Amino acid sequence: MQSVPEEWREGRDEREGGGAGGGGEGMHAKNGEMLVKRRVDSEEMNGGWKKKNGVEEVEVSEKESLMMELTRMVQKMVKESSWWERRGIDCSILAAAFFCLPPAFLLLASSQLLWFLAGMLLMGVAHAVLTIKGTHLASHGALSESQAWAKLWAVFFIEICGSFSARAGVQGHIKMHHAHTNVIGLGDSSVWKVPFLPRSVYLFIAPLAVPIITPLVALAHLKGNSLAHVVRTVLMITLGLYSQYWLLINVSGFNSPLGALLCMLICRNMFSVPYIHVNIFQHIGLPMFSPTGRPKRIYQMTHGVLNLPRNPVLDWVFGHSLINCHVEHHLFPFLSDYMCLKVKPVVSKYLTERKLPYQEDSYFSRLSVFFHKYQELMVFAPAITELVGVQ
Ligand SMILES: [Zn+2]
Repeated sequence: MQSVPEEWREGRDEREGGGAGGGGEGMHAKNGEMLVKRRVDSEEMNGGWKKKNGVEEVEVSEKESLMMELTRMVQKMVKESSWWERRGIDCSILAAAFFCLPPAFLLLASSQLLWFLAGMLLMGVAHAVLTIKGTHLASHGALSESQAWAKLWAVFFIEICGSFSARAGVQGHIKMHHAHTNVIGLGDSSVWKVPFLPRSVYLFIAPLAVPIITPLVALAHLKGNSLAHVVRTVLMITLGLYSQYWLLINVSGFNSPLGALLCMLICRNMFSVPYIHVNIFQHIGLPMFSPTGRPKRIYQMTHGVLNLPRNPVLDWVFGHSLINCHVEHHLFPFLSDYMCLKVKPVVSKYLTERKLPYQEDSYFSRLSVFFHKYQELMVFAPAITELVGVQ
């Protein structure tokens, strides 16, 4: 992979994960020249694609050129950006969250209610930044240029901080959700559906079980993995949970184990409700595609992804790629949160000028849609959309 610039690494991930339909596209560097390659799983031979060793190097057809043109514009912006913009800002936010943990443990030792609550808030926010923004960026390998470090960060953020399996996280998020966004049976977000729960319970109460369910789901995902992998994941998840518990008892001075566990549950739950909301708001209810009739990537992502408006809290805790730049993130999943924000004006202008959708809606408007159309969106099977005329 040496010849592939790290900035474009996600293209590799998508091709690796793009098991069906050959939807993944990515940029490869070869002798300083950018070539578009596309994996071929079927006998599909259209628009000037030319088969070579299972990978097609193409003379770009009219229909492919939109994504290519936009990719070139974004690539140029990435190349002109400093390391600080490409990775530094987001790494600093994550480091700041981590360094908020010691004062949070100390504040939790206070007998003054106000200081104690401040400690709780600080720990809850820091934990959410690490487990939502951190795990997301780490799963994309967006925190480091080196693949070895990227793997290490994935284990740190996803397993130690997030109590989940790094392998299952990357598989579910990168290789299914991103590679097959809104494709029925593959990346259709149905993993978030719990149809037997009433809407109020699903939207406002069930999310509070996320910190308990997450490690249990991680354990279920370990089935079939090597013993070494199972042992590592169990150890890392235990390390994350036990270190917080130990510090609450020994640094914050909690007298009872139950009190420490309750504090952990409250801190880890501070953003569980918006976490579930954001995960369903940005895809469910938008066009869904069949695995055999999926549109080209640019149509798939512009029709199947929605941006929420900027929000000072969610921007920091979730990151731009999950909130106000989700469309940009799905088009260019290797970009860091800050880079998504930087390319947003270019992407939105380009899509609008080409009469492609650039979907945006407010958090509360989406909440209202999900509340009032809960059966249709979260219980019944979604309808398949065929984008006639753009295939
Ligand atoms: Zn992502």
